[in-house]
Amino acid sequence: MKMTPSACPKCGAILDTVTVADPAADEVTPEPNDITICIYCSVYLVFNKDMSFHILTRRERNRLPLEVRKSLDLLEEIRRQRRSVYEN
Ligand SMILES: [Zn+2]
Repeated sequence: MKMTPSACPKCGAILDTVTVADPAADEVTPEPNDITICIYCSVYLVFNKDMSFHILTRRERNRLPLEVRKSLDLLEEIRRQRRSVYEN
């Protein structure tokens, strides 16, 4: 879905679209504190109250449910492996 454009605080790319990670889920409107991933630099972002973003902090990450943290860890491992394939 389209959203108000906002810059990624890490890479500066303008993000104006979000997609639900779960293909079985209906389209949802993001809310403050929801997590997303920058499609350009892959950093984890959190929606602020004004729907701009900040980078997910270690403290916020540690407060996420274990299942969500495991999913984030798995995504990072996949990205690490892909990077090493392309860099070698
Ligand atoms: Zn980015």
